[in-house]
Amino acid sequence: MSQAYGSVGLSWVKAHAGIPGNELADHYTRVALCEGEDLFVPAPYSYLKKYINKLIVTDWQRHWEGSHTGIRVREFVPTVDFKLLTHNRFLLFFVSGHGPFPSYLFRFKLLNSPNCVCGGLGTPDLFVLDCPFTLNFHMTLPADNNKSFWFKSVLKNEGSFFRLQQICQISDRICTELKSRILNVLPDLVIVGNLMSAGIVPFDFTDASSMEFVLGKYLSIDNSDRISTEVLL
Ligand SMILES: [Zn+2]
Repeated sequence: MSQAYGSVGLSWVKAHAGIPGNELADHYTRVALCEGEDLFVPAPYSYLKKYINKLIVTDWQRHWEGSHTGIRVREFVPTVDFKLLTHNRFLLFFVSGHGPFPSYLFRFKLLNSPNCVCGGLGTPDLFVLDCPFTLNFHMTLPADNNKSFWFKSVLKNEGSFFRLQQICQISDRICTELKSRILNVLPDLVIVGNLMSAGIVPFDFTDASSMEFVLGKYLSIDNSDRISTEVLL
């Protein structure tokens, strides 16, 4: 090429018009198409990064859709996206339901009832929407088909993070209160047992229905105690 410097130029010629040089170029093009060898052209780093990223996200989405766990989270995050990753533990508590909520602690037998002290089922939604103890921090949850938009908007909103933090701290204190009630009630149960053993309480200790009746009667002395005898038994 360097030797041809000054003697080579480019000019437009009519294609497929019998011009020898142009016909020869077409000939070699066809030969290359049929018999040519693969040409290794290294891809740029940016292309590879994008390509690998796409493979990972596709695989991640397939795994996410096929998973049998995280059903509640999928309502808020149906499509995986690196931009939706968050370290905010209060938002994670809420969307997963795995946090300081009576309904969750009840599943692991850390509480004897899934209910909040207000009487409602102690789920994350109760504390965010209805519980009177978290009234000042209640939020508006959209319909099911808009939960993903809600999640995205919360991710960009410090005020929502603050509300969720306050709500989770209140629900945590409620769980602590419920745990202390269990500890307070247990000695009472021992007293009831002793009364029955001594024949002071005339019910058959081995009969579950009698036992339930006695405990129900005993606990109903204090109507403010919402822990059900059914759970205690
Ligand atoms: Zn409540």
